Amino acid sequence: MKKVAFIGLGRMGHGMAGRYLDAGFTLAVWNRSKAKAEDLIARGARWALSPAEAAAGADAIVTMVADDEASRAVWLGQDCAAKTARAGALTIECSTVSYRHALELARELRGRGFVYIDCPVAGLPDAAASGKLTLVVGAEHSDLEQARPYLAPLSSTIRHFGAVGSGTVYKLINNLMGAIQIAGIAEGLAIAEQAGLDMKLVLEAVETGVAASPQVIRHSKRMVARDFSGATFTAALRHKDAAYAVALAESLLAGVPLMGRAAVQAYDKAKAYAPDEDEGKMIEIVSRPKGAAT
Ligand code: NAP
Repeated sequence: MKKVAFIGLGRMGHGMAGRYLDAGFTLAVWNRSKAKAEDLIARGARWALSPAEAAAGADAIVTMVADDEASRAVWLGQDCAAKTARAGALTIECSTVSYRHALELARELRGRGFVYIDCPVAGLPDAAASGKLTLVVGAEHSDLEQARPYLAPLSSTIRHFGAVGSGTVYKLINNLMGAIQIAGIAEGLAIAEQAGLDMKLVLEAVETGVAASPQVIRHSKRMVARDFSGATFTAALRHKDAAYAVALAESLLAGVPLMGRAAVQAYDKAKAYAPDEDEGKMIEIVSRPKGAAT
């Protein structure tokens, strides 16, 4: 039976780990806080006391944690996965990390004799729990082929962009474009509200007009209703992704990105306002009446 160690059981990781149980894999799990693992343990997962304990004996180690710092800690920190993973094990980083970190991590893990797959994901927590994520992969062709049986329970689509790091490049530009769109729709809707337009009509026009995208349609409805229930992606995570994307852009394109920097500034405010709540709360910041403190 295939043995997987899954590390990081947040909104995304919890559902992804459950997919391995659904598919009949032997699963070991670790999360910084154990409470999020309880139902997976009840379903048959082995609880590990550290990333190292989870990784011992695994064929594949999959991580889904918040950011570079968390990724470094679980792969390379104290009691980390790299300490006990067996030679030749697949190491699969699904978290959205910076390009620089993805390359450093690949160098470290390959240097220790593991196969490394750069594997950020596109899709919300419901797609994670139902195995319908899109994986945006950077990997050697043969490494990806070796990893496919371990990626199949998670995904409906795999897009292979090229060498290690290329999946992360795509993920960061995707999320930077999302950050710009969401900040833009918050501003546009706030202007319309302040000007007294019929917001039902505005929504209808936005949804069918040239500014529409799945992202814009989803957020515009929630923003107008001020309905931020069931947060799937937080202001803190969006801020992190936009900042990583801007750092990448600065290393590649002189004078760019103007829009990206503006989005990071907007998400600086959203993160300070409500870091762990839905990113769409951006509209509450931009729709404050003139003269109110920001
Ligand atoms: P989340 O619910 O906030 O979960 C974050 C996870 O990281 C938790 O397991 C958390 O542990 C762990 N973590 C944070 N800091 C840590 C540290 N220093 N050491 C060890 N573990 C740490 O976030 P999420 O929404 O699942 O997102 C996870 C990753 O997927 C992020 O990189 C995000 O950008 C990406 N992503 C998210 C979505 C989405 O729709 N949510 C979609 C695509 C990609 P605790 O439980 O103990 O806090």
